[in-house]
Amino acid sequence: MAQFRTLDDIGDVAGKRVLVREDLNVPMQDGRVSDDTRLRATVPTVSELADKGAIVLILAHFGRPKGQPSAEYSLAQVVPAYAAVLGRPVRYIDWEGVDDAVAALRPGDIAVLENTRFFGGEEKNDPAVADRFARLGDRYVNDAFSAAHRAHASTEALAHRLPAYAGRAMEAELKALQKALGDPERPVAAVVGGAKVSTKLEVLRHLVAKVDHLIIGGGMANTFLAARGVDVGKSLCEHDLEATALDILDAAERASCTVHLPYDVAVAKEFAPHPPSLRMCNVHEVAADEMILDVGAAAVEALSDVLKTCHTLVWNGPLGAFEMPPFDAATVALARTAAALTQSGGLVSVAGGGDTVAALNHAGVAGDFTFVSTAGGAFLEWMEGKALPGVEALERR
Ligand code: ADP
Ligand code: MG
Repeated sequence: MAQFRTLDDIGDVAGKRVLVREDLNVPMQDGRVSDDTRLRATVPTVSELADKGAIVLILAHFGRPKGQPSAEYSLAQVVPAYAAVLGRPVRYIDWEGVDDAVAALRPGDIAVLENTRFFGGEEKNDPAVADRFARLGDRYVNDAFSAAHRAHASTEALAHRLPAYAGRAMEAELKALQKALGDPERPVAAVVGGAKVSTKLEVLRHLVAKVDHLIIGGGMANTFLAARGVDVGKSLCEHDLEATALDILDAAERASCTVHLPYDVAVAKEFAPHPPSLRMCNVHEVAADEMILDVGAAAVEALSDVLKTCHTLVWNGPLGAFEMPPFDAATVALARTAAALTQSGGLVSVAGGGDTVAALNHAGVAGDFTFVSTAGGAFLEWMEGKALPGVEALERR
């Protein structure tokens, strides 16, 4: 794996100004932070640096202000919740007068600088904006894996201007991802589910070359079934991608990757919880007016047996329409198997994706996986095998 400097390499930071890129892009409701998961993820890095006497200057974006400063997108709104999560005072510093405000800080102080996207050049990776940020600090720490798929001034260019290090959350994420797909213990299984093939084509293409077992579920499995001549009735299905699906199946065969498609399914005539028309059947028995909404019990049993033979699992996308019971059954059952195998020490399990995280929480097992990424876009790009500019910029040169 590429080598990164971490906080273990940063040396004595007492009295030094450390610019820390974090993800403070939290959801708000009625002016209050409605989910502080992202804030909590920053605590190890920020506390460690403050405890070592650094002047901690946090850089983050908030929403999409498109280069226009406004109260709506001001990070000042996040500061009270952030101070509560950190359990320490947190100062807020506007871009106006930033130099004087930073100069007045004392060792151990923590300050959130205003939204990086108030600079139009931030999202363009503008060198002048990176210079502006670099002037404020002596060291740079990137702790925001979720923003690392974008080459922005605060995530990419800035890393070339100061001694740069991965923060603790970034370090944990990179290590987990490396264990899962970089240098995994084989056999490796991947579960790819979710609504559509079209959003995960690159993920599937990358995985067939990397994993031993590719388990395809969710709406996207219907496109693969249709490509193999199965009549999927009214199911969500991208018929225009059937040829692409066959290409992926061919590529899998060439790479000796076993693809697992459901052979029994839960179907219904209406897209609703506990529909009266609910029925379990073989994939070849779906009626013209029925939709496949989940993987069936027999297939899940077989998939559990596949996981038992594996040492590594990566998971993105639910196996069914898990928001509507009983179409959560396959996702919950397979997630619990993966969690149990992880806890008994036989499996390294890494999962990510907005709905995937929700589904694992729903199954009550998110804490039992080796690592669950909340990074969204960055996690998917990593699953696609893409280099992430914010990560590359941290590599030891
Ligand atoms: P993630 O956010 O984890 O990357 P996706 O957004 O790709 O996952 O997919 C999640 C969505 O896929 C969920 O809303 C779920 O209801 C939907 N889905 C899963 N299986 C089916 C299916 N058989 N038919 C229709 N929608 C499905
Ligand atoms: Mg989603």
